[in-house]
Amino acid sequence: MTHPREDALLREIENRTDDLVALTRELIRFPTVNPPGDAYQPCAEHLGERLRKRGFKVEYVRAEGAPGDSDDKPRINVIARHEGGRPGPCVHFNSHIDVVEPGEGWTVPPFEGLVRDGKVYGRGACDMKGGLAASVVAVEALIDSGVDLPGALEISGTADEESGGYGGVAYLAERGWFSKPRVDHVIIPEPLNVDRVCIGHRGVWWSEITTEGRIAHGSMPFLGDNAVRHMGAVLDELESRIFPALSRQATAMPVVPEGARTPTLNINSIHGGQDDATGGLPSPLVPDSCRIVLDRRLLIEEDLDEVKAQMRAMLDGLVQTRPNFRYRIRDLFEVRPSMTEPDRPVVRMTCEAVEQVLGRPAQICCSPGTYDQKHIDRIGKLRDCIAYGPGILDLAHQPDEYVGVDDMVNSAKVMALAAYALLTGDR
Ligand SMILES: [Zn+2]
Repeated sequence: MTHPREDALLREIENRTDDLVALTRELIRFPTVNPPGDAYQPCAEHLGERLRKRGFKVEYVRAEGAPGDSDDKPRINVIARHEGGRPGPCVHFNSHIDVVEPGEGWTVPPFEGLVRDGKVYGRGACDMKGGLAASVVAVEALIDSGVDLPGALEISGTADEESGGYGGVAYLAERGWFSKPRVDHVIIPEPLNVDRVCIGHRGVWWSEITTEGRIAHGSMPFLGDNAVRHMGAVLDELESRIFPALSRQATAMPVVPEGARTPTLNINSIHGGQDDATGGLPSPLVPDSCRIVLDRRLLIEEDLDEVKAQMRAMLDGLVQTRPNFRYRIRDLFEVRPSMTEPDRPVVRMTCEAVEQVLGRPAQICCSPGTYDQKHIDRIGKLRDCIAYGPGILDLAHQPDEYVGVDDMVNSAKVMALAAYALLTGDR
């Protein structure tokens, strides 16, 4: 059941469908491709200018010194805040404004925001300019509804999520923008599907393992030491011990798709011996080094340091058992897993709003990959964070990416109801 006031709010959002589509198209037309980080400033200013005209206090923060930041490609973030009539909590909607490169295979122009059959097409349509636009329209409609709102509503457009968020949410979190007392609840409108409330994500550890050998003439391999064979032994260990152990591990994380409810390991690349890109036959040589890059994904129950120690123990075991086995291991990248408790208000209120708008229960899930929640949790120390937004996750980063207009309208309704409930405690 909805209150009459809520019914009016939902109707008002429906009446703003054209505005929602128009804003999504405007945002898609800024080709904010990352890397390298193009067009951040005009995109952030477009958003900031719209909200400033509606009475928000708008601030721009350049992530000076962050990776990729330069006068030519400044990492510009925009944060807009609307104060309510009396003290209360702050609900913050955070979206990244960067998109990945369009790549090949498009049948529509990637940066025009073509509308066809109830869908808006373009790079970033679902990941995540459609979600950003939905949060803007949701918040504006809530403010315009004339309800006496306590607390504050914030909307941010941040840089560099696709490359780790260091010039965006991480930079802001380090400076207090995502911590209490400024902010209490954060909703990130990533495209996790309109009926799913995402409470967190798995962790990541990228590493590089190199085995070492000794070069020799390929006609007399016994005079050298073949690093590729040593790497073969590493791969054998992964196959016979590590992969089976990973697949047995259980988790409390409701990761979607279900295949990701165990830790996973991807052998991302392997290279040994001479580069064969030169054309023609390579020289007959025994390879003296071989390198793999591993992409290990972690569950909330796992400790990153322990995971690293297990990998080293496996390699040290080979040092003990395999003659002349030598290796090096190097960390490339790491993210700790993050999961908000399902009974936190931001989770509960958003789930209730999903049920109210869609007439079916919300599915609580976790993401197999990562997004900016890690910085809000680990740096901002704010545990009240979820991802909720329109769009089909599988379409992100694909050619002919789109977001459904109905999805955007429904998610805007959910965001408005959830924000209203979080601000007023009135549900
Ligand atoms: Zn995204």
